Amino acid sequence: MLSFHEQRSRVVELLVDAGYLRNPRVIKALLTVPRELFIPEEMKKYAYHDTPLPIGWGQTISAIHMVAIMTEELDPEPGNKVLEVGTGSGYQAAVLAEIVAKQDTGGGHVYSIERISELASFARKNLEKAGYSEHVTVLVGDGTLGYKEAAPYDRVIVTAAAPDIPPPLLEQLGDPGVLVAPVGDQYFQRLLIVEKRNGRNIKRWGIECVFVPLIGKYGWSVEERWKN
Ligand code: SAM
Repeated sequence: MLSFHEQRSRVVELLVDAGYLRNPRVIKALLTVPRELFIPEEMKKYAYHDTPLPIGWGQTISAIHMVAIMTEELDPEPGNKVLEVGTGSGYQAAVLAEIVAKQDTGGGHVYSIERISELASFARKNLEKAGYSEHVTVLVGDGTLGYKEAAPYDRVIVTAAAPDIPPPLLEQLGDPGVLVAPVGDQYFQRLLIVEKRNGRNIKRWGIECVFVPLIGKYGWSVEERWKN
């Protein structure tokens, strides 16, 4: 059986060949962050299968190609301050921290908000094991409200399905800045990419996707979740 390191290199190579990965910074980050440290023990052997995997509390770590595509669309740069909504396992936050805080001169930071406190603890432990805890602040709360205390952000990424972009996240996005979020109904979404430039928000649709729902003031209500 291939080592985790070999499996990681292989899946990144496949994503480059498929055209999902182009940005050298994102390629380097995906080659560096050990995804197996963000997966529950009993499923570690599937760490490099390119599918979402359950992480408990009805939530998932996104498929590797989805992390690749969202990170490419977000286009984070070394030194950036990033806000992530939906910490989950902490893997996406680690990929972002690898780029903004560890590549080149670093200096950037990732703030990541999770509504389920047990998952926030899981993510903190994973980030610690992988060596990113100094560069990622995991907060517990409703991420649709953003985190005003550290705004403005150079980049904002939402990793749960939103009915629309939560207004506080657009307000807390810096200028220039980029925001990426899956927007649609609770079953099917497309990535929405918003580029803020000279006071204008330029919107563009990306690929189709399926995420777990964003639950909160500017997301879905708990009662609406999975409603037909
Ligand atoms: N980025 C994660 C990773 O790398 O593992 C995967 C995120 S998972 C698909 C979506 C996460 O968003 C879940 O952990 C869920 O609890 C969280 N979530 C849903 N609504 C939220 C909200 N309003 N604020 C913060 N987190 C939320």
